[in-house]
Parts: sequence; structure tokens; C-alpha cells
Amino acid sequence: MLSYRHAFHAGNHADVLKHLVLIQLLRYLGQKEAPYMYIDTHSGAGVYALDTGYAAKSTEYLTGISRLWDRKDLPGPVAEYVGLVKAMNPDGKMRYYPGSPYCGEKVLRSQDRMRLFELHPSDSKLLEDNFRKLEAHAAANGQRSNVRGKRVMIQKGDGFAGLKALLPPPSRRGLVLIDPPYEVKEDYRRVKDTLSDALTRFATGTYAVWYPVLQRMESRELAGKLKRLPANGWLNVTLSISGPAPDGFGLHSSGMFVLNPPWTLEPMLREVMPYLVSALGTDAEAGFTLETGETVTTSGAPKRR
Ligand code: SAM
Repeated sequence: MLSYRHAFHAGNHADVLKHLVLIQLLRYLGQKEAPYMYIDTHSGAGVYALDTGYAAKSTEYLTGISRLWDRKDLPGPVAEYVGLVKAMNPDGKMRYYPGSPYCGEKVLRSQDRMRLFELHPSDSKLLEDNFRKLEAHAAANGQRSNVRGKRVMIQKGDGFAGLKALLPPPSRRGLVLIDPPYEVKEDYRRVKDTLSDALTRFATGTYAVWYPVLQRMESRELAGKLKRLPANGWLNVTLSISGPAPDGFGLHSSGMFVLNPPWTLEPMLREVMPYLVSALGTDAEAGFTLETGETVTTSGAPKRR
């Protein structure tokens, strides 16, 4: 099913959580000189306009990046994420929002590699176009001439299936982001099956899965299934900006599930999640959950899920 367009959701509260965690995971890998590979199985278009088109119509960014834009009290990791978004809006107006490939492009070093998959014909073309523009911009500024080429490869195709051939990466260091639309319940099963297979090929890799927190059974069961995968450890963080809408529509809560998380991730999230709840929360049911291993920590009111 190819009706999903991420532009509708660009910069919303779920993107804030996902991209904040993504940037920190990449930063951690970059602490060592040795190269790493970032694989994005569901890349989207890479860059989104907020002031025109789908995003301007849905205005979902008002639930996310917009609420952080003018804050002067951002904790370090949140400031780094907002700083990355601001750097692509040099005139100070919030016009563009980065997708996960763009976050990767900004954080990766010249020795690192990025592999991007996108199935939708329109978004894969936009992704290609956006990276071509980045390359031209870098060349015009005398910066890295290798935005594309060996460093960044874009494939129009199925990221679940394409991942197999890339594991393990030659450097044996890497992060895989799996961020499907979940419009079909098949996506939940494929996330688990793909991770199960990936761990047999690259057991020490870090795997980050974004997921919507919804009433549907597949959503409620996903984290429990991922916890049983044979990884060295896991971290599960969710952010709810409110209780569910009375009509049941709209996404108010989402999560990031990380297999083999770096040890730094949990303390970082303990610091920033209360801040995100207060900055993005819209009612008394706003809150977060943060679990690692068997330990469960919750803040805010219990969730009705
Ligand atoms: N990761 C992106 C970001 O954070 O900016 C957003 C990705 S969006 C949630 C999911 C994307 O996956 C959509 O652009 C959709 O077209 C694409 N998609 C759906 N099924 C796919 C598949 N099997 N393989 C690769 N891409 C797929």
C-alpha cells in the first residue's frame, strides 16, 4: 500500500522523538574513529517543506518542532536536534524540516556510509533530488564532494528485503533505523521478522524501530515481541502528548524501541523526556515511559492504550 506520505506528518511530536534519538545514536557511533554504516530502511523524501504542500495542510509540526523552536531552555541533546533543524532554515523562519536521511547526512563523517531505501516512486525521486541538491550545495561551497557516490547510496525498493544484503556492514559497526508507515498490519510482522533475521547476520548492530502507540492489537504487542529477540539489551521509550482523542483519531503517542542500545541512551532520555513532556504535552495525560531490560519507569498519568 503506497498511500502514505510522510510530508503530512513532518516535524510532529513523533518525528521529534525519533530524530532526537536517531541523532544521539549516530553521535555515539561517531565517538570512535572507525567508520560505521547507517541504514535507513524507510527513508521518506529526506527533506520536507513546512510552509507549502502536505505539511502546511496538516500542520502536524505544530505538535512538535514548532513547540521547541523559540525555547531558550533546551537540554543539550534537544538543543542539538533543534540546532540541526535551524541550520537548514538560516533565515530563522521554520520552513524546512529534515527527514531521517538528512539527519544522517548532517551527523555522518566522511568515513561513514549511509544506505537509504524508499519504496514510494514519488518520495524516492524526491529523496534522489534532495541529495542531488545537497551535493550541488556542498560542491558550490567547496565542501565534501562525496555526498553521494560510495558514501550515500539510495535504492528505490523494499527496505525490509534490502537490509539482508547489507548485513553485516564491512566495518562491523552500524545503526539500522526501521520506520515503516504501519498502515498495513503486515508492517508489524515484517519489523519483527526483519530484526530476527538481521540479528543472525549482525548481532552487535544497533537497531532502532519507530512505532505508533495505538489501540490496535499489533501496536500493543509489538514492543513485547521485540523484547524477546536475542539481542544484548533493549530500550523502549514512548512519548504521549495527550490522552487519546474522543473520536479515537490522530496519533497522540509513539515509541522508539532500540535493540543493543548504547549505555548512554537511557541516562540521556531520563534527562530529556520530562522536558519533552512539559514542552509538547497538551493535557494531564501527557507523559513518557522508559524501560530497559526488565525495569519499567513511568511518568505522567497511566495511559489508556
Ligand atoms: N524515516 C523517515 C523520516 O524519519 O524522515 C520517514 C519514513 S515514513 C514514516 C515511511 C516511508 O516508508 C514512506 O515514505 C513510505 O513510502 C516508505 N515505505 C513503505 N513501505 C516501504 C518498504 N517496504 N520499503 C521501503 N520504504 C517503504
